Amino acid sequence: MPIRILADEVASQIAAGEVIERPASVVKELVENALDAGARQITIKIEGAGKRLIEVADDGCGIPVEEVPLAVARHATSKLSTADDLFRIATLGFRGEALASIGSVSRFTLVSCPGDAEVGARLPVEGGRVEKLEKVGAPVGTVVRVEDLFYNVPARLKFLKQDATERQQIDALVTRYALAYPNVRVRLVQEGRPTLQTSGNGNRREVLSNLYGLDTARQMLEVIAQDEDLRVGGFISPISLTRSNRREITFFVNGRWVQDATLSTALLQAYHTLLMVGRFPLAILFLQLNPEMLDVNVHPAKAEVRFRQADRVFSGVQRAVRRALLAYSPVPAAVPASTWRREPELGLKPGIDPAWDMASSAGASPAAPEPDLDSLEGEAGPREGPAQAGRQFAPPSLAPLPPNRLPMLRLVGQVGAMYLVAEGPDGLYLIDQHAAHERVLFERFMAMGRQHLPAQTLLEPAVLQLPPESARVLAEQLPVLDKFGFQVEAFGPNTFLVRAIPSLIVGSDPAAALRSLVEDFEEDETPLQAEIEAKTIARVCKRAAVKAGQVLSLEEQRALISGLEQCQSPRTCPHGRPTMVHLSADLLERQFGRRGAR
Ligand code: ADP
Ligand code: MG
Repeated sequence: MPIRILADEVASQIAAGEVIERPASVVKELVENALDAGARQITIKIEGAGKRLIEVADDGCGIPVEEVPLAVARHATSKLSTADDLFRIATLGFRGEALASIGSVSRFTLVSCPGDAEVGARLPVEGGRVEKLEKVGAPVGTVVRVEDLFYNVPARLKFLKQDATERQQIDALVTRYALAYPNVRVRLVQEGRPTLQTSGNGNRREVLSNLYGLDTARQMLEVIAQDEDLRVGGFISPISLTRSNRREITFFVNGRWVQDATLSTALLQAYHTLLMVGRFPLAILFLQLNPEMLDVNVHPAKAEVRFRQADRVFSGVQRAVRRALLAYSPVPAAVPASTWRREPELGLKPGIDPAWDMASSAGASPAAPEPDLDSLEGEAGPREGPAQAGRQFAPPSLAPLPPNRLPMLRLVGQVGAMYLVAEGPDGLYLIDQHAAHERVLFERFMAMGRQHLPAQTLLEPAVLQLPPESARVLAEQLPVLDKFGFQVEAFGPNTFLVRAIPSLIVGSDPAAALRSLVEDFEEDETPLQAEIEAKTIARVCKRAAVKAGQVLSLEEQRALISGLEQCQSPRTCPHGRPTMVHLSADLLERQFGRRGAR
């Protein structure tokens, strides 16, 4: 075929594909337009999961009659005129693409009337063809009706998910915007049923229960931090409230919902070792910073941004989250289910994993230990040290953290070849020998800083074969692994030769050790160098630690207890699991009916 310029309609359908992927993307663009227009009230109507109808009505500034045809033209915007303006963007829109894109893949009608106009205008667009403009009487503001979305792009329709999923996406989107703009009254009606209605009174907590439900919303911790020209606000979950994925992590930057792996990493690092492996916090955080510090023009759907000082933003978020965790975290202590102090409605299920629940989320007795937040400090050093893989993070300057060390313990003995029992001035400690040993080893190695760990050469190098994706991940990390005693070299496609392993884990299967490391690395799409190092160390320690079922000599038991006493964060293992359950003297007395039994 000869080269030809594409017909306008074709070109805009192609462009539309980038901006409008699904009904929720239409809702996003229209809601953003309403917000840009200064609306105090936005009403969204959805029928047929957004495929039949999406209608967004606002009471914003409206569009003058003579500009209405421009509003639906491509690259027509009132929000920017020069390329320089891109770095001063204070509006959500700026590309002048949304209305044209939506108009090219639906039956579209725009009705708008500015506050000072006698009469409004109505302009239909059908599959990209702009119809005749009519003058009509209309309330002040704008109403956009989008019917039969993708009727002329059947391929798109096929890519949509089940109706329930598309509806959920819309719900999630509108609710998050409602939370970001608590001063705007937002009403969402899906299939004739109101699913969201906010008051617009500015109270975010109120909106929060729409997002998470009342119980969860009540538990969320508020984040408020101001750091020069970076403001961080919003809500994060306490360590007792987690999810198995990151879907409940949301960031708004200057009023715009963005997906940003760096921001998520900053958040997760603030929770570092406080959460179980594979558990993630809930969070909705709002960042406010000077628009000049931000490049918003990196993604057609404006879902990504680039920061001019990523490191500052990163540490700002991390610090803000840490502070909130410190200020509010419940004090962990062992409280058996029978004396659970929290209202049952908080959703704790003591039956499921009592060890974890008890240590992490139970109510507190006054003498109970402080939350295990020191780990943030203790392990922050190497992770946030200077220049690693080109990224530099400012060391956090935090207020002194509460003491978290263990008191002197007296060993009582070993139980079931799994636990150690010890006595302290304030009661009894039941210690998981494997988790505790992991913690002791981990802190010892982190304290060694960036020194190389001793390696032990294998008599017979081990061969490791991996699937291509895992092989790529491993190949990237060979230099880091070398530092920690794994001497591994590429050996043909997707194959590696293991020549040495850390002396600490001599005796364990070298291939298996590396495989589990690769799995750790794969978990995170964009791990930071420091994270890789900490994960490697944590993994080595896990292998090296005494196992459950291992009978320990008295000497070994004593050594473990005293190692734990020296730890900064003795109460969790590096993967976030509790190392011990504390039965305070007070609790024991109450349990035995010696005092104020309940
Ligand atoms: P952008 O938002 O990037 O400018 P759009 O295609 O979304 O591009 O909108 C084009 C123009 O139409 C906007 O710049 C604005 O002037 C006008 N407009 C769109 N929606 C509204 C609205 N709800 N209220 C007032 N003006 C609007
Ligand atoms: Mg727009």
